[in-house]
Amino acid sequence: MATAAVFLPVHFYELKIYDLYMMSWRCILMLKPDQTVKNSFSLLQIAPTLAVYFHIALDSPARPRPIKRILEFAYARYPTPHTVLLLVVDSLDMELYYELGNELRTLHRLAGQDGFMLECETVSNHTTPAIASILTGLTPESHGILTSADVGRSTRKSILELMEDQGRKTGAVLEKKGSEPLIGRLSCVYGISDCADIVEYDRQITEHTISMLNKHRLHLIFAHIRTIDRFAHRGWDLHRAARITDRNVSEIADAVSGIEGLLLICGDHRAHLSRASSGERIVDIKAKVPLIVAAP
Ligand SMILES: [Zn+2]
Repeated sequence: MATAAVFLPVHFYELKIYDLYMMSWRCILMLKPDQTVKNSFSLLQIAPTLAVYFHIALDSPARPRPIKRILEFAYARYPTPHTVLLLVVDSLDMELYYELGNELRTLHRLAGQDGFMLECETVSNHTTPAIASILTGLTPESHGILTSADVGRSTRKSILELMEDQGRKTGAVLEKKGSEPLIGRLSCVYGISDCADIVEYDRQITEHTISMLNKHRLHLIFAHIRTIDRFAHRGWDLHRAARITDRNVSEIADAVSGIEGLLLICGDHRAHLSRASSGERIVDIKAKVPLIVAAP
């Protein structure tokens, strides 16, 4: 009966366009066999997928398709939406995900035992436009957020702001300047001052993310950790960066488990490796990054 309640709104005359859109996706999930969906994904599909899961309308006229496999997984675990934590691991591309597999054990366990991993095409090789695309479902050309100075000026709303507008509480834990345009627009915003010690910075991001998960009943939380990116830029030991990152992810995953939430972890662009360690690697826009979906 609980499942039926999800599919049948009480008053049909109250249906809005996005209700019908969401219902059509539920019907597709029920009726179409899995092999009808192409096995090629993009970071642009994360926001539309979250929008369907939380029954939210996006403001983009040309948004890409939600990812059916994520919705199937999410509905199978929790037929009514539970808290989702969206964690961006800066510069985690497919090559580093496998090369640092010994250190990134928690990420591989989440993908192998508690969920799955999809390879997603990137849309930019820079953090700010890439994260704006993850949060809006729009290309950098469409959202126009290319530098941190553009963050407060864009007229396009992120999935976090759209959820707030439509009655779902959201939060974000990120760098202080990037967080400032979100203050007053989300239920909970925590900005961490950028500092030379990136390990300490990520520790604070992790602690405040866990605190936000435990103290506030939010539907969606966004967080962004940066140790791998900083170490890659400086040519430092990426195995150490991966161990530090994995420890933070492990603590966050435990907190998500404690509140019976869903965890989405993705990279944002191909790693910017320093000349000394990059070899023949070319930093191009169309790279692939992992998107891990788990119910830890
Ligand atoms: Zn980045």
